[in-house]
Amino acid sequence: MTYMKPPTSEQLRDWDNEHVWHPFAPMQAYRVEGAPIIERGEGFHLFDVDGNKYLDGISALWCNVHGHQVPEIDQAIIDQLGRVGHTTLLGLSSPPSIELARRLVEITPAGLNKVFYSDSGSTAVEVALKMAFQYHQQKASGPEKRTLFATVSGAYHGDTIGSVSVGSIDLFHHVYGKLLFETVSVPTPCPFHRPASMTREEYVAWSFAEAERIITEHAADLAAFIIEPLVQGASGILVHPTGYLKHIRDLTQRFNIPLIADEVAVGFGRTGSLFACEQEEVQPDFLCLAKGLSGGYLPLAATLATDEIYEAFLDEPSAGKTFFHGHTFTGNPLACAAGIASLELFQKNNVLQNAKEIAAEIESCLQPLLDHPHVGDIRQRGTMVGIELIQQRDPQLSYSAKQRMGHQVTLAARKRGVILRPLGDVIVLMPAPAMPVELVRELCQVTIDSIREVTE
Ligand SMILES: *Cc1c(COP(=O)(O)O)cnc(C)c1O
Repeated sequence: MTYMKPPTSEQLRDWDNEHVWHPFAPMQAYRVEGAPIIERGEGFHLFDVDGNKYLDGISALWCNVHGHQVPEIDQAIIDQLGRVGHTTLLGLSSPPSIELARRLVEITPAGLNKVFYSDSGSTAVEVALKMAFQYHQQKASGPEKRTLFATVSGAYHGDTIGSVSVGSIDLFHHVYGKLLFETVSVPTPCPFHRPASMTREEYVAWSFAEAERIITEHAADLAAFIIEPLVQGASGILVHPTGYLKHIRDLTQRFNIPLIADEVAVGFGRTGSLFACEQEEVQPDFLCLAKGLSGGYLPLAATLATDEIYEAFLDEPSAGKTFFHGHTFTGNPLACAAGIASLELFQKNNVLQNAKEIAAEIESCLQPLLDHPHVGDIRQRGTMVGIELIQQRDPQLSYSAKQRMGHQVTLAARKRGVILRPLGDVIVLMPAPAMPVELVRELCQVTIDSIREVTE
């Protein structure tokens, strides 16, 4: 009998460099620098194979809600594992997927009564786009040729070709341009990167007016308007001014344009309410959920739709109105069981209240950075925070990309036992909504110290 000795951390590092192609990673630099190899998580901490302990400052990339190794979620998965790990929702159903759908309809904005499962934020968006597109060809009021999607500039909706098409981050568009379908975009209402000739107020007013002008101009062609409610995450935590979401809802309603709310990042407590749409009393026609849906434990996504959308897909099977889409692991029962357990914990542990308290704590802890010469902007909504580093304030000057300042701050934080991940020169703090306040204080202090070390 032979025993497989567990690989040493050095072996793992070699194999990682040799075989693993990491997402969104400049691999040439990655292989030189390496990264912690995480072996285990406990509460809000991660432990690597070398025995180092880190505070998880980014919620395992924006998805973890209640921490790691949460007994209730672990148990729910184990219980389900004792029944079946995976079957399918194609032609069959499963108790956890039914139960979770029922609960999602209950807690999401009114009108969203149908739940279509998939397994990532990108697919949740892809599903909404295809449904909206098909809806206009089959709707009760008669078919319409609406094939154009509208989006907010700087939007991020995922990495599949459809979701990249409705995104508008130059870097990705530049490379894949020829593969993408056409969209129109309205300017982001976040005023930080405005032209020097405009005040913040002027810029915001202009962005509201531009949204109206562009939607009106393309109204007859628009299949849907897609938006990240309240906060554009991946483009640098761009926080929208109050009333913008409502403004877009009013405009889309005026022209019967379905609104797709992509709450993949902002959903499940991150902006202070369970869903961001609640804060402006907006009822979208589609709601995309992923990241925090399973508590951040397992890949799970959902696209919710209204009855009106759903009913356009009803007819005799031979009529061809079916929604022909579905992934192998759609609505996986383990992931749905985790999702149900996560929703119960929201109530049991009063997670939304905690999220509000730690949001206030972050705001006060980060005060010392407000007049730091290399901090251009601190953008925060709830537990989503972006700290934008700049080389110079007046006139405003960014660092050169070569300096990788955001990345340098991440490395400095890692030395201090905190995991961060930047978006360019924006330092992102994304503590889990359930993180205790003393850990949030530590996260902020390490961030401040790391920014000072790297910029001064
Ligand atoms: C992360 C994200 C996505 C994509 O989710 P994946 O699970 O990474 O595919 C889509 N939309 C928004 C707003 C996101 O933040």
